[in-house]
Amino acid sequence: MPDIIRLLPDSVANQIAAGEVIQRPASAVKELLENAIDAGATSVRVIIKDAGKTLIQVIDNGCGMSPTDARMSFERHATSKIENAKDLFSIRTLGFRGEALASIAAIAHIEMKTRKESDELGTLLVIEGSKVKSQEETTCPAGTSIAVKNLFFNVPARRNFLKSDVLEFRHIIEEFQRVAMVHPDIEISLHHNEKPVFQLNKTNFKQRIVNIFGNPMNEKLVPVELKTEQVNISGFVGKPETARKTRGEQYFFANGRFIRHAYLNHAVEQAYQELIPDSSYPTYFLNVGVDPGSIDVNIHPTKTEVNFQYGQLVYSAVRAAVKQSLGMFGISPTLDFDAEPGFNINMPKGYQPKPPTISINPEYNPFASPKPSVKAGISANRKEWEQLFEINKTELSTGLISTETTEIASGGKEESRLFENKSELPETTAKLLQVHNRFIVAVVRSGMMVIDQQKAIERIEYEKLTSKLSSHKVEKQQCLYPHTVHLAPGDASILDEIIEELGNIGFEISSLGSGTYVLQCLPASHNPLNPEGLIESLIENFKNNKPLLALGKQPGVAAVVAKDIAMKFNRSLKPQEMQLIVDELFACQIPEIAADGSKIVRVLAIREIEKLFQ
Ligand code: ADP
Ligand code: MG
Repeated sequence: MPDIIRLLPDSVANQIAAGEVIQRPASAVKELLENAIDAGATSVRVIIKDAGKTLIQVIDNGCGMSPTDARMSFERHATSKIENAKDLFSIRTLGFRGEALASIAAIAHIEMKTRKESDELGTLLVIEGSKVKSQEETTCPAGTSIAVKNLFFNVPARRNFLKSDVLEFRHIIEEFQRVAMVHPDIEISLHHNEKPVFQLNKTNFKQRIVNIFGNPMNEKLVPVELKTEQVNISGFVGKPETARKTRGEQYFFANGRFIRHAYLNHAVEQAYQELIPDSSYPTYFLNVGVDPGSIDVNIHPTKTEVNFQYGQLVYSAVRAAVKQSLGMFGISPTLDFDAEPGFNINMPKGYQPKPPTISINPEYNPFASPKPSVKAGISANRKEWEQLFEINKTELSTGLISTETTEIASGGKEESRLFENKSELPETTAKLLQVHNRFIVAVVRSGMMVIDQQKAIERIEYEKLTSKLSSHKVEKQQCLYPHTVHLAPGDASILDEIIEELGNIGFEISSLGSGTYVLQCLPASHNPLNPEGLIESLIENFKNNKPLLALGKQPGVAAVVAKDIAMKFNRSLKPQEMQLIVDELFACQIPEIAADGSKIVRVLAIREIEKLFQ
């Protein structure tokens, strides 16, 4: 048998390496930015077209490259940053593996212009899929400009798996922010499709954070500073009230490199213990400075995971530093034993709780033959659903099951107006049972129906929004006065992407530039209280429900708005409210499937219930 093992050609090896290093346009942005920083640039410009799918260009005023270095930089394992294995233990640069440029060149079209300050002429290099197409002398400013075009042109699988422009650009913004944040001494800007997104001047760390996340951040930050022999902790943490429901602004940097570190995150959470609710996450921007010899960054190709040699020590230092700052700035908890929550339910004097009553239909014969059941996996057919229900209402009104729902007045002021102006609510309602403020249970002909309350409202609101869209009958309400909202650039870019679609469903929002927006009209279904909060929660919802955008931009926006309305309803419902939800749900075109493809309604057939008892 002949030998069968052979070495892969460089271009193939590079393409394989690219799979690890360059997962999406944002990864290329990260690598190019890191190279610019390593080159000692003081000014960096990032230009993006179509979320990086068409163009990613990074222009720096760093040290530039000689013609030979320019050519060498695209070779695999070619780096100026380390010489031997020993250097791996004293890395002070962001890059060192020498594979980023080789990887990017394997899967894109590259045009690089570079010149060293001391050289008169620069080099123009054109590479397509690892092949050098041309190299010539050129006049260009000192520094380096690398344009990456048609990313993944020869890896269709990668290209096809890229998400929408909104999402891919969101990833780019994240990478940009991470680099920009920890290098406030560098002037840096980001343009997308010819529009400026960030233009950040040289400043200090705190001001850079504020410039990235918006002015309101200014009052929310508390400085953190702790120096020990082995580790320096510096940066800022958010006052407890800035804690978010979603993991938002949480940044660790190790020697100026953004890292993910669950263990250190835990240290910060420990420091916040009892200051913020369990369900929320603290904001932090923390630099951990250690001796480069005591940190291993080489455990993952993207270099965002690191190992600290003195992990335990770094953990304690982070926790102590944060705790100390929160204490020093008077943010320690004030214990108020009189107001212990949970013991303070206001009940009228002499109130006797009533047990729920169950009434039984003496006529009911459980052995009577069941009526033919409706097939499971029912298609969207309102008639069918109606049939299913009609029969039940009669069954129900004979008093087969009766339950009492405790009526808790809904305190939520921010609720949508789903139930408003519904004076035509039926007086007597079919008996519906609410379970744990989450599900509505009804008896149906074939068994028992369980409806996911929140998803049902989502479906109802979604169809209302989309049907008005197609009939061009969007119902708007004018705000009493225009509301001004200030957004951080990252959030503003999300709003810009969807402002038109929001407009189509009744949100009249206009941009005044630099992250300021004015809200004048809302869809009629929204409660006009607190519209500022509404915009913020919409954006937050957008970040958390990215898959919905796969529906297409306009339906995706409608689905997120519907979700936003529905979120306010995880509470106890009055019987009439439940009835209305059920009625409106089954008047929908597709009552049983949510916009994200999950189920809204399940029917548990008698036979299946019987099986439970076998
Ligand atoms: P690494 O950063 O790990 O060394 P890269 O593939 O990213 O590997 O870059 C290879 C080499 O090309 C770098 O070591 C550096 O010498 C040079 N280089 C890359 N980008 C720039 C730049 N923007 N300015 C100057 N030199 C650069
Ligand atoms: Mg690099």
